[in-house]
Amino acid sequence: MAAFVTFEDVSKVYHSGEIEIRAVDHISFTIEKGEFCVIVGPSGAGKTTVLNMLGGMDACSGGTITVDGTRVSGFNARQLTTYRRHDIGFVFQFYNLVGNLTALENVELAAQICKDPLDAATVLNEVGLSARANNFPGQLSGGEQQRVAIARALAMDPEVILFDEPTSALDPEMVGEVLSVMQKLAQEGLTMLVVTHEMGFARNVSSKTVFMENGVVVEQAPSHEFFAHPREERTREFLRKIEHTA
Ligand code: ADP
Ligand code: MG
Repeated sequence: MAAFVTFEDVSKVYHSGEIEIRAVDHISFTIEKGEFCVIVGPSGAGKTTVLNMLGGMDACSGGTITVDGTRVSGFNARQLTTYRRHDIGFVFQFYNLVGNLTALENVELAAQICKDPLDAATVLNEVGLSARANNFPGQLSGGEQQRVAIARALAMDPEVILFDEPTSALDPEMVGEVLSVMQKLAQEGLTMLVVTHEMGFARNVSSKTVFMENGVVVEQAPSHEFFAHPREERTREFLRKIEHTA
């Protein structure tokens, strides 16, 4: 049986005037149901583009993406709308909460556009924020706001949740609380694809690591193997550099 999520020879080319930008260049990888996959790599590698294509926010220029046996890369605009509302949760670097709605109302708002939403209070409890349900975003810390954003994605009861650098905008002391929520979701068997620079987290919590650079997948492996025995020289160089800056 095919994997739950498959990327097969997927490309994305942007045209900027005369210039052609190969943001993603013939990549293939798979994610099993319940798997926690991370994408690591330097800025400009094409990581966000991968999430946007899987999330139905950006069309592929070539190749095939499937989710649960359905060819997402062939969807028309209407099918994409349904797909974004029912099947995919997205957590961004900047949480984008509505400032004049409470934490609970922000989660309820997202639930309104999908078919079978989970109870907003229940998912807020899941991210440890029951006590903050009636606070406005401006009254919450960055870490708490990002946890509301995670609850908002969870409320849609998606098949897959995509995280694009969910802790990059946070003060260091708030990174841990967001990572622990994500770790808990992974343990509960949610299918997750996460772009992150948190190498310790990727190494210890994720099941698979995909390393991208310049639009291509340089190396992919079970995470314990990827970090313990990287095969490619380029991967070793990247991991060394990250260690020195962390
Ligand atoms: P990453 O998330 O790994 O930093 P991105 O996926 O954002 O990388 O970008 C990959 C490449 O594609 C970069 O060179 C970026 O400038 C380019 N790119 C991304 N989005 C667009 C766009 N909408 N138009 C033109 N170029 C883009
Ligand atoms: Mg990015």
